[in-house]
Amino acid sequence: MPPAAPIKTLDKEGREITTVGFDRFGFDCEVSLDVLRSLYLRPHYVLSANDAENSPKEATQHAQFIQGHSEYQSKSIYHPDTNSISYTTLSLFPPVKLLPPSGRKRILVTGGAGFVGSHLVDRLMLLGHEVTVLDNFFTGSKTTVSHWIGHPNFEMVRHDVVEPFMIECDQIYHLACPASPPHYQFNAVKTLKTSFMGTLNMLGLAKRTKARFLITSTSEVYGDPEVHPQTEDYWGHVNPIGPRACYDEGKRVAETLTYGFQRQDGVDVRVARIFNTYGPRMNPYDGRVVSNFIVQALKGEDMTVYGDGKQTRSFQYIHDLVDGLIALMNSDESRPVNIGNGDEFTIGEFAELVREIVEKVQDGDGVKRSRRVDIVYEPMPTDDPQKRRPDTARAKESLQWQPRWTVKMGLEEMVRYYKAKMEEGSL
Ligand code: NAD
Ligand code: UDP
Repeated sequence: MPPAAPIKTLDKEGREITTVGFDRFGFDCEVSLDVLRSLYLRPHYVLSANDAENSPKEATQHAQFIQGHSEYQSKSIYHPDTNSISYTTLSLFPPVKLLPPSGRKRILVTGGAGFVGSHLVDRLMLLGHEVTVLDNFFTGSKTTVSHWIGHPNFEMVRHDVVEPFMIECDQIYHLACPASPPHYQFNAVKTLKTSFMGTLNMLGLAKRTKARFLITSTSEVYGDPEVHPQTEDYWGHVNPIGPRACYDEGKRVAETLTYGFQRQDGVDVRVARIFNTYGPRMNPYDGRVVSNFIVQALKGEDMTVYGDGKQTRSFQYIHDLVDGLIALMNSDESRPVNIGNGDEFTIGEFAELVREIVEKVQDGDGVKRSRRVDIVYEPMPTDDPQKRRPDTARAKESLQWQPRWTVKMGLEEMVRYYKAKMEEGSL
C-alpha cells in the first residue's frame, strides 16, 4: 500500500501546527504532534494473525496523521474464528525526553485515565517526567493510557479519591470527577463526595508533601450566567437544588476548599475553569454534545438538538486545554483562570457544522451515504445554561496562552478518530 499523503493541520492564523506546547515558566512542554497522534490515532488491534503483517484500513487512514511513527502502534490481534484477542504491549515505547534529575518532576494525575487526563499523561510522559495515575475507572478506562504500562516512568493505581492516598510528589493535577451531565447525575451523592472529599484528600496530600496543586474546575461554576462572556470575577448563577447542582456546587465547594488550604496552610494552588472541551478518546457514549453529534452523524442517525438549539457553547480542542493546564501549573498565577476557546456557536449551528465535517470526511474517503442525516429537536434538559463563552483575557495576560486550534480542524480529527474506531469495530 503506498504511503498516505500527510494531512496538514493549520492553526487559527493559517500556520501549520507541527508541535504542541511551548517552553515557558521554566517548563518545556513542547512535543511533536505526529508522535502525540501516534498514541491516540492507533488501531486497537489488527484483524487476524494473517492480516497482522498487512496494514489494516484504519491504520492506513491514521498514517496520514502520524507520518513515520507507526512503530508505536499496538500489535494486538483479533482472531475472528475463535472470537478471541491476543493482547500485546507496544513493541517500542515512544522516546521520552531525558531530563536531569533536577528537572524531572514526580507528577500525580488523578482522573488520569479519563479523556482530559489521558492526554495530559501523554504529554507529561513524552516530556520525561515520572507520572502516577490515580483512577477508579468510573468513566475512564485503562485502555486510554495502556500504551504507557510497563514504562519505568509510569505507574497506574486503581484508587477512589474519596479515600486518602499517600505518595511523594512535586505536582498534583486533580482531575478525578465525572464531567458529562449523564455521568455526574447518575449518582449525584457520589459526585458530591468525589468533589468534596476527593479534593479534601488531594489538598491534604499537597499540604503534607508541599506539592503544587491544580484543580480542574469548570465553567459550570458560573451556572446559567447573567454575564456574557464570563470573566473570572463573575460569581455565577447556580440553582443549588437542580439536577446539575451536584456537579456545579461540587466544583464550587472544591474551589472554596482549595482557597481555604491556600489561606490557612499555605498550599500552593492553581484553579483552572475549563470550558467545553472535545477531542479523541472522549467516551463516545457519555452524552456530551460533540461526541453525540459525531457518532449520530457517522452512524447515519438523526442528530438530537435539545430545546430550540439557540443555547450557545464555545468548544476548545484538547491540545489547547493541555497547553493551558501545563502553563497554569508552572506559572505564578494562583487566581482562577478560564481556559476555553472563544468561538461561540448556537447548538443548532454546531449540529450543522458537525454534519458538514462528517460528510466532508466521508466524501474524502469515498463513503456512500444512503441519506443526509436530519437534525431533530428534543426537550431541553432542566437548568441547561443558555449562553456560555469564556473571557480569556486573564489566561492571555498571565499565561501568554491562547487557543490555536480552529473548531473545524479539531472536529475533523475527532471525526476521523471515531470513524476509524467504528470501522475497526471498537466503537
Ligand atoms: P472523564 O469522565 O473522561 O474523566 C474523569 C476521570 O476521573 C475518569 O477517568 C474517572 O474514572 C475518574 N474518576 C471519577 N470519579 C473518581 C473517583 N471518585 N476517584 C478516582 N477517579 C475518579 O472527564 P473529563 O472530560 O476528562 O474531565 C476531567 C476533569 O476536567 C474533570 O474534573 C471535569 O470536571 C473537568 N472539566 C472537563 C471539561 C470538559 O469539557 N471535558 C469541562 C470542564 C471541566
Ligand atoms: N445537547 C444537545 N444534544 C445532545 C447533547 C447535548 O443539544 O445530544 C446540548 C445540551 O442541551 C447543551 C449543549 O448541547 O445545551 C452542551 O451539552 P453538553 O452535555 O456537551 O455539556 P454542558 O455544557 O451542558 O455541560
